[in-house]
Amino acid sequence: MRQWTAIQMAKLARKASRAIGKKGTDLPGQVARKIDQNILRKLAGKVDEVVFVSGTNGKTTTSNLIGHTLKVNQIPIIHNNEGANMAAGITSAFIVQSKANTKMAIIEIDEGSIPRVLKEMTPTKMVFTNFFRDQMDRFGEIDIMVNNIISAIENKGIALILNTDDPFVSRLKKASNDVTYYGMAKEAYPFEQSTMNESRYCPNCGKKLNYEYIHYNQLGHYTCQCGFNRVAPKYEVSHFEINPFLTMHINNETFNMKIAGDFNAYNALGAYAVLRELGLNDASIRKGFESYTSDNGRMQYFERGSKKALINLAKNPAGMNASISMGEKLQERKVYVMSLNDFAADGRDTSWIYDADFEKLATQDIETIIVTGSRAEELQLRLKLAEIDVPIILEKDIYKATARSMDFEGFTVAIPNYTSLTPMLDQLVRSFKEAK
Ligand SMILES: [Zn+2]
Repeated sequence: MRQWTAIQMAKLARKASRAIGKKGTDLPGQVARKIDQNILRKLAGKVDEVVFVSGTNGKTTTSNLIGHTLKVNQIPIIHNNEGANMAAGITSAFIVQSKANTKMAIIEIDEGSIPRVLKEMTPTKMVFTNFFRDQMDRFGEIDIMVNNIISAIENKGIALILNTDDPFVSRLKKASNDVTYYGMAKEAYPFEQSTMNESRYCPNCGKKLNYEYIHYNQLGHYTCQCGFNRVAPKYEVSHFEINPFLTMHINNETFNMKIAGDFNAYNALGAYAVLRELGLNDASIRKGFESYTSDNGRMQYFERGSKKALINLAKNPAGMNASISMGEKLQERKVYVMSLNDFAADGRDTSWIYDADFEKLATQDIETIIVTGSRAEELQLRLKLAEIDVPIILEKDIYKATARSMDFEGFTVAIPNYTSLTPMLDQLVRSFKEAK
């Protein structure tokens, strides 16, 4: 009875919230959890397979790629919306999407929410993308976070699917006897080497790791004298190309994808590993991989006539470096539009931009750079310190700034931070509809 009430109240809350124009992804879960504290446990118990997708970067793309591929193969799933990746949002997804014939759930989960959610339900599989320096103010050191995750998931029989190239992620292997690895061969792709190397220490013993090969940041082929070594992966990318979309070569199969960005190769590989572990074959995976396009501002591509644009969210140094390197891969002349807001959801401290390699813009063919957002001046200052010698336009209104980029012939590279994403994306969608 309590469960029925919780679900009815949650659905009512969703209707009410939609009526006032909100998406309402967290609210149904919040309401239901107040009425029935066991609601998530009960609903999760009704599906046979629950895959949790987590990590610092790439979990949304990985989760969406898995979800899309299952859907095009007519496999019904419960799938949470981007951003609704904490306890309330996950509960909402189960309430709103549960149906009698739905036996599988693909759930993106915030790394910090794992301990809390794992108290209520146990997934059958968990895939981890990477752990980068990101929400330091929320989690403290990466080590602490990894240890918390290990305590939350160990000895629960969860099948782990791990990025073997990331020593922080592969440390999770001690939490399960059932571990599958994915990774990239040496020289799979000439990734931009990042200058950030503070993480290249053994998460097991603290000594400096020996790297035979580094893809970027701490991702690569490593060994340690304590015996903490990279494990040979079951699913491996031998190499991939970007043109500007990814052509992936995984375990001798080729996938021509519609997503861009070199770092998305890891997300595609992680999704591939999950789908294979769920029992899909290469033909079924290809059906999903070759039809998936981003629609959430992560490496989202626009084209109309001769004007092209790519938008990619960057809310930390790794994201910014990836966005800048995506621009480098584009042959065309470029116009950048970058936005930095400092609202609560962004984190008030915007000093992370000083850890990103804006200096690398100096080698690119750039028509102009438009800076926008509540901290546009700080971006402008950062570009000046990086000695980027191109015209810089300051326009604090994100809609106007984004529209302005359409006046230039160059390939628009749009880089919003978290709260800048919606206005920038809305304006791009509108501008590309209006374009001749
Ligand atoms: Zn070690």
